[in-house]
Amino acid sequence: MKLALAVILWLIATPALADSYQSKKDRERATKSTQHPAPPAPGTKPAKLVNLYNQWTHDWLAVDPLSPPSLTEVSGFLRDHFTNEATKMDPKLISVVIAAAAQFKSDFVNVVSGFRHPKYNLILRKKGHQVARDSQHTHGNAIDFQIPTCSTKKLEAWAKAQKLGGVGVYLASGFVHMDTGPVRSWTGD
Ligand SMILES: [Zn+2]
Repeated sequence: MKLALAVILWLIATPALADSYQSKKDRERATKSTQHPAPPAPGTKPAKLVNLYNQWTHDWLAVDPLSPPSLTEVSGFLRDHFTNEATKMDPKLISVVIAAAAQFKSDFVNVVSGFRHPKYNLILRKKGHQVARDSQHTHGNAIDFQIPTCSTKKLEAWAKAQKLGGVGVYLASGFVHMDTGPVRSWTGD
């Protein structure tokens, strides 16, 4: 009888109930497993990720602001697209970009430039691009980025207030450069 009652209850159960039953089972299974980290407590929201997009390599890096990615992940993501080579990036760059995304309530950041191999930097200079000879990009100390939820001007003001290092604003192109070199600022096109 008990079984029949259980079956009837099961049949009339709403999909939502079935789902919660399923997730409870999953949670129990996950708790017993030694291969997975403990699941978050029921009712806990998943971490809000910030999605970084590298417009040259078309790579994505989803960052949990509470557990930042490894230096290897960051350096790979910000690699030079021309030579496909990576360098050791300054980890402060990702922290500051994530802080900017939080400031402007965005879960998306478009990365215009990260590491620039000296070879590629030279090519850009020869083509007449706005590129410094010994750019901080060639040392893995700079990032160019844009955030769709704020204007370039607002992002520039915020970047300068961080006093991290250099801040360049490129209004026509619509991005901000930040680096961990000496504190200075400039305006490009
Ligand atoms: Zn730059």
